[in-house]
Amino acid sequence: MDNDIVKFGLAESRRLLFQIKAQLKRLGACRMPALPGMALLGIALPALVLILLVALGGTAAEAYRAPGRPAAAARSSGSATVYPEFRSSFGTIRWISDQMPIKVYIAPGLTLDSIIDPQLGAPMTNVDGRDRWPDLVADVVSNPQQFQSLPIAQGYVPEHYQAALQGINSWKAFERDGLFKFQLVNDPGDADIYVFWTNHFVNKLGLGLFQNDIRGYTAKRSFPYKAIMSGKQAQFKPVVTLLRTTEANGITMPAVKMKASAAHEFGHALGIEGHSPYPSDLMSVYYGRGAISTNDAATIRYLYHLTPDLIP
Ligand SMILES: [Zn+2]
Repeated sequence: MDNDIVKFGLAESRRLLFQIKAQLKRLGACRMPALPGMALLGIALPALVLILLVALGGTAAEAYRAPGRPAAAARSSGSATVYPEFRSSFGTIRWISDQMPIKVYIAPGLTLDSIIDPQLGAPMTNVDGRDRWPDLVADVVSNPQQFQSLPIAQGYVPEHYQAALQGINSWKAFERDGLFKFQLVNDPGDADIYVFWTNHFVNKLGLGLFQNDIRGYTAKRSFPYKAIMSGKQAQFKPVVTLLRTTEANGITMPAVKMKASAAHEFGHALGIEGHSPYPSDLMSVYYGRGAISTNDAATIRYLYHLTPDLIP
């Protein structure tokens, strides 16, 4: 009888050990510095913190992609395909029900470009420093005086706000499926996702990236879901989207393109990390037809039925 108890105990221990190992393996994979942002961060951030950056469109964005795409095969359901690129190299990322409704704040035309990194002499919003955007926005919105002094982005027109709102709201269709819930908030001090504006993006040298066709960027910081669920503390930071008010030639971004940009970036904010390889999808680097495609729909549905590896 004692023997049995011992055997049972061993088996239980082994199973537990196996579970712990599996968990460590997964969490360990999350800590691999596979993204350039991690290297920049060094040890300045707790080990739990992960920076996930999503870029949109054009070659610069593609070059920034994390190496080593997931090996998952595309899944088809009818004529729709789940593109595996939705998964980051750290695993799946999505909001969980405890975080809903996700609060979205769209700044009316405000730009953060006037905030200069004293060491770089370039805007804090430079695209090479996207890993710091969540901290930047957290700081700015917690300081009402600074927030109120933010200028309006050059090239911004009020139609851009409506276009962005329409683009973001196109994801409302999935609330009916119970996948997620989000709402627009008017209080800039209390949101999960922030949308700000820029006339054009700059690199860390402050040089304007006029030539490329990147219309937006989204930066998020994510945390291992299992660690959070087991009670680990995390300092959540807002997801930040910047939208460009002008096209490559400097003219005002047309509303129809702005709507597509905002919808695309919101797809990233929801957790579609990579880009669809199918040009007709909104989440491709070509924005598809500017609207959520059947592939995009299948992908977001698939993502929100998975247990996430990470949560924003
Ligand atoms: Zn993108």
